[in-house]
Amino acid sequence: MEQYNAGLDSTPGVEFYAGILCAGFVNAHSHIELSYLRGAIAGGGGYAAFAAGIAKVRDTFSEEERLRAIEEADRAMWQEGVDAVGDIVNSATSFATKATSPIHYKNFAEVFGLRVCNLEQQRELLKYPNTSLTPHSIYSVQDAPFKEVCNIDMNAPLSIHFMESPDEALLYAGEGSLHEWYKAVGFECNFLHYGSPAERIVACVPKDRNLMLVHNCFVTERDIEVVMDHFSAPVSWALCPRSNAYISGIEPRSVELLRAHNNINICIGTDSLSSNWSLSMIEELKMFRGIPLAELLQWATINGAKALGIDNHYGTIEVGKRSGIVNITGVDLENFTLTASAQAKRVL
Ligand SMILES: [Zn+2]
Repeated sequence: MEQYNAGLDSTPGVEFYAGILCAGFVNAHSHIELSYLRGAIAGGGGYAAFAAGIAKVRDTFSEEERLRAIEEADRAMWQEGVDAVGDIVNSATSFATKATSPIHYKNFAEVFGLRVCNLEQQRELLKYPNTSLTPHSIYSVQDAPFKEVCNIDMNAPLSIHFMESPDEALLYAGEGSLHEWYKAVGFECNFLHYGSPAERIVACVPKDRNLMLVHNCFVTERDIEVVMDHFSAPVSWALCPRSNAYISGIEPRSVELLRAHNNINICIGTDSLSSNWSLSMIEELKMFRGIPLAELLQWATINGAKALGIDNHYGTIEVGKRSGIVNITGVDLENFTLTASAQAKRVL
């Protein structure tokens, strides 16, 4: 790097940073309230084993431990250069940290429950800033509450977990592990007549509503077409590759399908510390080998800002915006790719 420095760091008022500078990151999908579960749940067993793991350890942590973990995660994200987060909330635990955090949080109060739906309980969370309701997924909410939530607060985006596992589509065909599980515990689904996860989305979400679909590991070309043909409002496709690797040891197979559509907004989320080793955007980007870094940085900045509807303030370094500036080191400048040791740090 010496040749690029050219004595600049000895010039008064000029700071020299090796590597590259980019706009502050937007983490499009996280659940910061689950930060206390870091390392508590073994990965690799697939989604059903993971959900069972959470249920087993959830009540073994004190309120203080939960709050401390949220604060640490918030601080780590800020230091790494995260300006804004699309954060799923199930409770009010994270709002004290968020009230004083320099990070902008767009909160999605998650509605779920096939037998008892928590919609009324989640409405209580709407008193907190930047908070709106969203259905958890296309397999965990019955028909009426799903439609109701999709029609409340039309100005806010929705953030729906989508096609994280092939079992989500198989459920609609009466097959797979979700189907078996629901049958074993006696859950009846009154939404399977839509025929597929994508068909349910387009039948129930108003076409002028901003929507973010999260995970998308198993979306097909047909799913993408069904969704993109329906919406007049922007649809964003969030990828969380390290969470997928942690839970199921899989990669989002849809990356190239999504990239082949040039009107598709791909963004990046870390998911939670229950299913990730850290909430690091740069570590997520390292998972996409062979994709140009300039494109990846768009996913991690402006595309996330668009997904959360905050691109007027974040996502690019421009006069009038509030974006931070991030220094990424460990960049192979010749090929413009991230090396394994690449790191990101907030400069501003
Ligand atoms: Zn999630």
